[in-house]
Amino acid sequence: MREETKAREDIARWAKSMFDRGLTGGSSGNISVRLSNGTLLVSPTGSSMGFLDPAKISLLDENGVHMSGDAPTKEMPLHQAFYETRKSAGAVVHLHSCHSVALSVLPDVDEDNVLPPITAYGVMKLGKVKLLPFFMPGDPAMGDAVRGLLGKRAAVLLANHGPVVAGKDLNAAVYAMEELEETAKLTLMCKGMSPNLLNTAQVNGLVDKFNIDWD
Ligand SMILES: [Zn+2]
Repeated sequence: MREETKAREDIARWAKSMFDRGLTGGSSGNISVRLSNGTLLVSPTGSSMGFLDPAKISLLDENGVHMSGDAPTKEMPLHQAFYETRKSAGAVVHLHSCHSVALSVLPDVDEDNVLPPITAYGVMKLGKVKLLPFFMPGDPAMGDAVRGLLGKRAAVLLANHGPVVAGKDLNAAVYAMEELEETAKLTLMCKGMSPNLLNTAQVNGLVDKFNIDWD
């Protein structure tokens, strides 16, 4: 199967899976995939992740210019910023997932490392997750905030909005997104209960062994 055809079907299948599991609702959330020729497939603006038509997914050239399909998501600046700063990124997923948003509005979180180290996989799949401020929907400054991280983070959490995760391919980006939302949920479940988090030596051991983004 041609790379582009397969990617279109993979985007629709994963989008529906995440929608059906309640990871994002309504017409929120968006997905992009960078093909080997540098072009981007992007979920269209205003579309529901539960009902994407593979044939209507937006195709953008390597400069981000719309070539075919429906118009792309208004949150393209987020996606572009990850592709520009992380050469290894093959896919970006952004959702408005409930527990992640809840965590983003708490007063006492560590903005530089917003997810506490609860499980090894949370550390391994995401690296250190940065909490970024609130931006108006579609504000290009969102992209500038991601660019400001200089490609050192694979995942960010937009305050009062939701998480954005880049992966080497779509599967990796979705797996990381699932881990982010689960870790946010666990964090809320354990809040105020003095949980036994992984200690610094355990986190450093994971970072070294699995070559995790931890700057
Ligand atoms: Zn959004």
